[in-house]
Amino acid sequence: MNKMNNLEDYAIDYRKSVTEPEKFWAYQAERFVWRKKWDTVLEYDFEDYNVEWYKNGKLNITENCLDRHLLNRSDKTAIHWVPNDPKEQDRIFTYKQLHEEVSRFANVLKNNGVQKGDRVCLYMPMVPELAIAVLACARIGAIHSVVFGGFSADALAGRINDAEAKILLTANFGPRGSKKIGLKNIADEALENCPGIETAIVLQRTDDAVEMKAGRDKWWHEELEKVETFCEPEIMDSEDPLFILYTSGSTGKPKGVVHTTGGYMVYTAYTFRNVFQYQEDDIYWCTADIGWITGHSYIVYGPLLEGATSVMFEGVPTFPDAGRFWRIIDRLGVNTFYTAPTAIRALMAQGLEYVELYKLDSLKVLGTVGEPINREAWDWYHHHIGKNQCPIVDTWWQTETGGIMISPIAGVLPTKPTYATLPLPGIQPVLLDSEGNELKGNGVEGNLCIKFPWPSMIRTTWGDHERCKNTYFSTYKGYYFTGDGCRRDEDGYYRIMGRVDDVINVSGHRLGTAEVENAINMHEAVVESAVVGYPHDIKGQGIYAYVVCDAAKMEVSTMDDLKAEIAATVNEKIGPIARPDKIQIVRGLPKTRSGKIMRRILRKIAAGETSNFGDTSTLLDPSIVEAIKEGVVRDQ
Ligand code: ATP
Ligand code: MG
Repeated sequence: MNKMNNLEDYAIDYRKSVTEPEKFWAYQAERFVWRKKWDTVLEYDFEDYNVEWYKNGKLNITENCLDRHLLNRSDKTAIHWVPNDPKEQDRIFTYKQLHEEVSRFANVLKNNGVQKGDRVCLYMPMVPELAIAVLACARIGAIHSVVFGGFSADALAGRINDAEAKILLTANFGPRGSKKIGLKNIADEALENCPGIETAIVLQRTDDAVEMKAGRDKWWHEELEKVETFCEPEIMDSEDPLFILYTSGSTGKPKGVVHTTGGYMVYTAYTFRNVFQYQEDDIYWCTADIGWITGHSYIVYGPLLEGATSVMFEGVPTFPDAGRFWRIIDRLGVNTFYTAPTAIRALMAQGLEYVELYKLDSLKVLGTVGEPINREAWDWYHHHIGKNQCPIVDTWWQTETGGIMISPIAGVLPTKPTYATLPLPGIQPVLLDSEGNELKGNGVEGNLCIKFPWPSMIRTTWGDHERCKNTYFSTYKGYYFTGDGCRRDEDGYYRIMGRVDDVINVSGHRLGTAEVENAINMHEAVVESAVVGYPHDIKGQGIYAYVVCDAAKMEVSTMDDLKAEIAATVNEKIGPIARPDKIQIVRGLPKTRSGKIMRRILRKIAAGETSNFGDTSTLLDPSIVEAIKEGVVRDQ
């Protein structure tokens, strides 16, 4: 069935997806517009790594996101954009208007010499033109590579060169909270080291002037004037690349993950519809940036494939104040709200007064993604935002997986705080021990792998297939290795324990960083924390905890008392084995620009290293690292 409505449906579909995967995924694909139907549903080889879904099928994904809806949803809102500055007007695009805008910009790209297979780099604020340009690339078969607008010139140049992009789309400035990001200036600096870029098309987002380089830079609005509206979609093969997207860089050098057309389309639509239990006329809002996979799959492609209304927000959660999200939810009547633990924790620390001003009674489903969500944040989200009425879908997935893999299905599968719960149909997770043996039964913990292909899985890392093979398919022969540690509890529910590299081995006991942080965060003065292992003479590894506290909530008199209390909390919640050996109170944690904690840097600091932090291009605020280095706890 296309949509599961209850537990029984799930059981039937899951079974079918395992016993007859090709039949299952053929059925899911049939509802789309194919210019030519596929010959085979699936061919794959996990040894040399090659996977093909819907082989020889011909289609254009934008025909499915846009043209397909013109008959019945032409005047329905496709994108509802909310600007950073609340005094500015929202912008609304119906399916008909979005179709026109995409077609026009597709013609702009063509006019500027972009052809099928060319790479287009997008370095943009969260404006409708970003979504339009993404779809315009897909319309003409160009491969989009979106780089988050918070990246530095070096990080941008690295990604442009790795993808060998020939054109850059950017904006003069990008408003974000009380700041304006000088995207064009940063792009100019990047382009000094990007010989492959012939043209930059610049959107005038603000009134601020910028320098335009003659022969290279063109204004977006001027280019639009030169073209007509109609653009015939390019007919693509199922396996033609749709986009390249670099991973967050939490664990090392970002990887240029390549996704293709047919399988990605089928899977993002399927998961969007099912996980969020999307219903026609729901207002759906995902707060991610389109610069991350969540924005690709669940702001742009998934919702538009389903003909949904997708809210797109330019700003940040705390501007002009910490009630911004909740105000938008009330004003637009948002039914489904999908955000990240880092945002939940930040808003939680601001106090309830910002939440209590709003009704939030339109909400039906809440979602979270990106990191393990700690128990306290889960409870707060459930209680104060969802008013104990909205299921929370804790969606585990990765840039490489293209779509949600393990997650509750809203209202259909039970939820369990801090658990991603159960695999979606088509997903066959296994837990392997370090020798590669599958751990059978429940109540086990190991390395999370997937043993059968799914339609939106990574096809390659751009320009380096060996890297893809080595990273994902060589650790355990015959499996896709996720890099995450995971526990399957007595009920068969999955809980992500953090990255495998982050699992700490204390005197032979394996502890997930997520688990220890979860306990630390239970202390009421703690805003958030990051835990890493460090070499310890006796235990093998000791536990080092970096903790951010809310000064207003500290009731104890000294730092030592506070640390003792935090240690006691862990003792109580998990046991003495998890008690941190060292606790450092810090003002902030090093995070990626997508808001994830970079434990690899913290691991180095805890081990006494002060340099060689590896690729730090995705680090948001280097001054935090300096401050942590200064306050490092020596032997206690
Ligand atoms: P890199 O691969 O470059 O180190 P990254 O893994 O942070 O970066 P993403 O693909 O954005 O890049 O993130 C995927 C990872 O995020 C997962 O492997 C997992 O560790 C974590 N994650 C995502 N969603 C969840 C979730 N619901 N619960 C727990 N962890 C999650
Ligand atoms: Mg990763």
